[in-house]
Amino acid sequence: MTKATTSPATVPVPLGMPAVLRSPAAIARPGADLSRPGSAAASGTRRLPSTGLRDRRDRPLRDLRISVTDRCNFRCVYCMPKEVFGRDYAFLDRDELLSFEEITRIARVAAAHGVEKLRLTGGEPLLRRDLEGLIAQLAELRTPDGRPLEIALTTNGSALAMKAAALKAAGLTRVTVSLDSLDDELFQAMNDVRFPVGRVLDGIQAAHDAGLGPVKVNMVVKRGLNDHEILPMAEHFKGTPSTLRFIEYMDVGTSNGWELGEVVPSAEIVERIGERMPLAAVGATAPGETAARWRYVDGGGEIGVISSVTQAFCGSCNRARISTEGRLFTCLFASEGHDLRALLRGGIDDDGLADAMGAIWGARDDRYSEVRATLTPELRAARPKVEMSYIGG
Ligand code: SAM
Ligand code: SF4
Ligand code: SF4
Repeated sequence: MTKATTSPATVPVPLGMPAVLRSPAAIARPGADLSRPGSAAASGTRRLPSTGLRDRRDRPLRDLRISVTDRCNFRCVYCMPKEVFGRDYAFLDRDELLSFEEITRIARVAAAHGVEKLRLTGGEPLLRRDLEGLIAQLAELRTPDGRPLEIALTTNGSALAMKAAALKAAGLTRVTVSLDSLDDELFQAMNDVRFPVGRVLDGIQAAHDAGLGPVKVNMVVKRGLNDHEILPMAEHFKGTPSTLRFIEYMDVGTSNGWELGEVVPSAEIVERIGERMPLAAVGATAPGETAARWRYVDGGGEIGVISSVTQAFCGSCNRARISTEGRLFTCLFASEGHDLRALLRGGIDDDGLADAMGAIWGARDDRYSEVRATLTPELRAARPKVEMSYIGG
């Protein structure tokens, strides 16, 4: 994997720009050696507009997803199938993971570059020891105009009943729980470790009771596996404080054997639910929002649909991801990340880190979901992509 080993590039600094934002935003290819004399980053061919960091498609950086572990206690068939993630699978060693201090440094610099929202994910983030300690550190961070960052968590919910109160006390703002079926038999088959659905439902309730609501509940829909659970899930969460969101099954990674025919388009999901419980579209969502919102006409709340496959939203994608061992990915479907851990452990200062992150984002041109449809199945399969459990959802 290519490493972005860099020393700070020296570029003219517009007066009044905070030191940490002195990014050259040079046009460098992802994975380019940013320190090489004469490289785009080193020569600083493009300066940041004073309005903030933008990528090559004029998208700002607002959302940073941080994978805190590559391990998980579930083996969801569409994410970490047992045949691939079995007993012999080589997960990362402890010293390979970013420390809490390293994560916090990256998040601090990202906040200076415009990030307003952090999402902790994995693997299963609640498996990382003392996650509350990390959340407490992240809760101290501020945007350049002094606001705290939103700190969200995506979890399979298995340990949430036990941890919700402590997470809230540490400063967690929101939680998203993944839940693919209410049918205990099917749920246990999908997580493939016989984990009962009741305990996840208890976790959702605990999160709500701890003040982490409204809880978002994410259901990945795979045709022929759990699409018959769309209506029961909608009926269950209608009128509750939780918001159910349906996610189109995606071709992340290379181990889940994805096929286009297994995707249930969001339009079909909305139609199926709407026939039974009439829905109306809720107007424009916030910039970069992934879910399209629909409300029950009778006032029973809302659902969301995330149409990553059938209606790509790359045009407004403002998300970056940090893998468990500190690689910065500018797209969920990227094949390579930029090694920030090497920079941190090589002694780079915050200005240098800001320059490096700014250059990486400035060079970003990703829009995989928009081009997916133009790829033949052979080309798609040949394309190397990182696993969801490594990069975080
Ligand atoms: N373990 C946590 C969980 O399950 O919520 C966090 C990590 S998990 C990788 C994050 C999200 O990615 C989950 O909501 C999961 O359902 C979703 N996911 C995993 N593989 C997916 C796929 N192939 N297509 C769509 N969503 C997927
Ligand atoms: Fe684990 Fe989440 Fe992947 Fe399921 S979706 S295997 S819970 S990381
Ligand atoms: Fe963003 Fe990449 Fe997903 Fe497009 S495919 S929305 S660029 S993460």
